[in-house]
Amino acid sequence: MIIDHTTSAVVTGGASGLGEATARALAGKGAKVAVFDMNEERGEAIAAEIGGVFCKVDVSDEASVEAGFTRARAAHGQERVLVNCAGIAPVGKLVKRDRETGAISHHSVDLFRKTMAINLVGSFICMAKSAAGMMTLDPVGEYGERGAIVNTASVAAEDGQIGQVAYASSKAAVKGMTLPVARDLMGEGIRVNAILPGIFRTPMLAGLPEKAQAGLAEAVPFPKRLGDPAEYASLVCFMVETGYFNGECVRLDGAIRMPPK
Ligand code: NAD
Repeated sequence: MIIDHTTSAVVTGGASGLGEATARALAGKGAKVAVFDMNEERGEAIAAEIGGVFCKVDVSDEASVEAGFTRARAAHGQERVLVNCAGIAPVGKLVKRDRETGAISHHSVDLFRKTMAINLVGSFICMAKSAAGMMTLDPVGEYGERGAIVNTASVAAEDGQIGQVAYASSKAAVKGMTLPVARDLMGEGIRVNAILPGIFRTPMLAGLPEKAQAGLAEAVPFPKRLGDPAEYASLVCFMVETGYFNGECVRLDGAIRMPPK
């Protein structure tokens, strides 16, 4: 699929970090981009800058997602591209292991549920609603392509740390659902892939002190730096534009394999 001015795209989490870079990259290729996010102020500002629309959406809430797609499609027509970037990474501010409350690995049950609701169920809801719309599109090209979806998992899906039980579980599940959804939608001409980012310089890392961020960069074999969100966005565009990319989960991580802390 070629991304150009005829392409309508939806980017969840498009108000920040990897989603913002993706929204900018898609718009840079001419696409009409709808930014789905909870952060109204940033989302409106970015959408205005790239000539797109902002939709205040909580990806974990089916009705909110439905309303977002209705608004995005009214503005830009049915999307051919969905990029799921909305997510939370609740690490480090969590309750300690506690025999009384039953919390383990720094996680309360509520935090576990919330992380799953946003990272996993949110990605699923957006895929389901988007695929339903994509199926109404006329197929394009010799092989009858209708759309492309890119999910955002994480290297934590494969090498999660002790404080990342909820996050790693949610991202492993995002990775895990990508191939079966790709298999489900292949008959409809919709491709589904996922990226497992390593450590990228985004507001998600802002909670960490600079020294800790430098330590993270040191852990990357090569190049010894954090990922640039523009590199993530390039891979999204490549996956969308490369018709043979389907059902893949690709690490983008400078070869990092985190040893257990
Ligand atoms: P970020 O915090 O900069 O951006 C995340 C965006 O998601 C924010 O704009 C936030 O408002 C939005 N969001 C959160 N909950 C939402 C909800 N319920 N509904 C709609 N929007 C919501 O983070 P980022 O670093 O850009 O991360 C983007 C994705 O990449 C996340 O899924 C994250 O888990 C994943 N990831 C990031 C890294 C990294 O190093 N930054 C590494 C691996 C995976």
